[in-house]
Amino acid sequence: LFITLEGGDGSGKTTQAGRLEAWLTESGRSIVRTREPGGTDLGLELREIVLHRRGHIAPRAEALLYAADRAHHVETLIRPALERGDVVIQDRYIDSSVAYQGAGRVLGGDEVRDLSLWAADGLMPDLTILLDLDETEGRRRLDASRTTYDRLEAEKAEFHARVRAAYLSLAEAEPERFLVVDASLPEADIATLVRERVAGLLA
Ligand code: C5P
Ligand code: MG
Repeated sequence: LFITLEGGDGSGKTTQAGRLEAWLTESGRSIVRTREPGGTDLGLELREIVLHRRGHIAPRAEALLYAADRAHHVETLIRPALERGDVVIQDRYIDSSVAYQGAGRVLGGDEVRDLSLWAADGLMPDLTILLDLDETEGRRRLDASRTTYDRLEAEKAEFHARVRAAYLSLAEAEPERFLVVDASLPEADIATLVRERVAGLLA
């Protein structure tokens, strides 16, 4: 079972991934928890470049760096875990690329999706949890919790508004894959909604 968490910066993906991991581990399942960018050694090097390098990165180059991270991640970590029967819980995947590079950077959702699918050798998640949050609230949470920003977090409000809209239209197009949750709900309530959906998939 391949579960991804998506949503804007500060929407609570990491927190909910942790809660889901704890719950599934309690029930005796083998879990691989990972993230993009940076789920492998190579991925960490790419993450450093794409998020922390000073200066401009051409949008197409950015999309290709995320795709390179994903290609290596899928082949060396995710696929082997799924073949062993583990549950993979992952912070960000293809939908992030479609939303951030496709809509945020205006490279085009279809083009970026095709690139990502090629990189991932066609692997799609069984479930994607979209933590939907107003972009100004996401920013407020980040300001409160972090002292340094990733390069992408410095983007303007319009960028984050495009990202949010793209996520919502992805979810609308594939309702069977997505669970959309209001990320302004209390953390424990979100965790309950996530568990209910995951329990249905495991049954
Ligand atoms: O999820 P995490 O906080 O690790 O994401 C790191 C940064 O990478 C975020 O600021 C996010 O906006 C950015 N990102 C991106 N395009 C992707 C994936 C992540 O711009 N495809
Ligand atoms: Mg996070």
